[in-house]
Amino acid sequence: MAEPLTLALSKGRILEQTMPLLKPLGIEPLEDPATSRNLVLPTSDPNVRLIIVRATDVPTYVAYGGADLGVAGKDVLLEQGGHGLYEPVDLGIARCRLMVAGRPDADLEGRRIRVATKFVNVTRRHFAAQGRQVDLIKLYGSMELAPLVGLADAIVDLVDTGNTLRANGLAPLEPIADISARLVVNKGSMKLKHRAIKPMLGKIAESVDRNAGR
Ligand code: AMP
Repeated sequence: MAEPLTLALSKGRILEQTMPLLKPLGIEPLEDPATSRNLVLPTSDPNVRLIIVRATDVPTYVAYGGADLGVAGKDVLLEQGGHGLYEPVDLGIARCRLMVAGRPDADLEGRRIRVATKFVNVTRRHFAAQGRQVDLIKLYGSMELAPLVGLADAIVDLVDTGNTLRANGLAPLEPIADISARLVVNKGSMKLKHRAIKPMLGKIAESVDRNAGR
């Protein structure tokens, strides 16, 4: 009897783009996670179940053993520190960039600026590495609004196509990090369930390579 494994995923991009990577391993949810209200979903592999949690909660579930494995955005891991987790596979999905953005004519040099973001830790580290102190304003969404109403000089947000910035008259100003989703593993599970997890990591890495055409 193989060891049962719990995998934490969040709805949206991560769920949609992780499913095709798991399919070649024979892991498919028995009900549609996008529409199901169940938060624990059995899969076609009787030893693997999925749990559906908020994207920012995935590292917490995995670090404390509520799940053995999870898929988390690098943005979330950078912001939260990724403590208590292994991060063995870059899944190459949900790609985007973490950027400083603002009005195209924004002059951010030579003065202390205000930056609105939900990524306060990453933002503080980014500007500190340049020897700059900034005033941080924590927001939970619609960051693009902040420079438009004078709440902040700049924002730090995820940018994919740049359409959201453009639609609000903003432009990318400075890249901070390339982002993609990572497979994360509970450190205890990696030891105790090594026989189940090790081959799974190998097969997921093969799926990722096939996806990338390598
Ligand atoms: P875009 O307009 O394509 O540049 O997308 C930007 C919006 O989508 C922002 O509100 C981002 O927070 C969100 N976004 C883009 N890519 C991602 C991603 N990989 N993960 C989470 N949110 C994203």
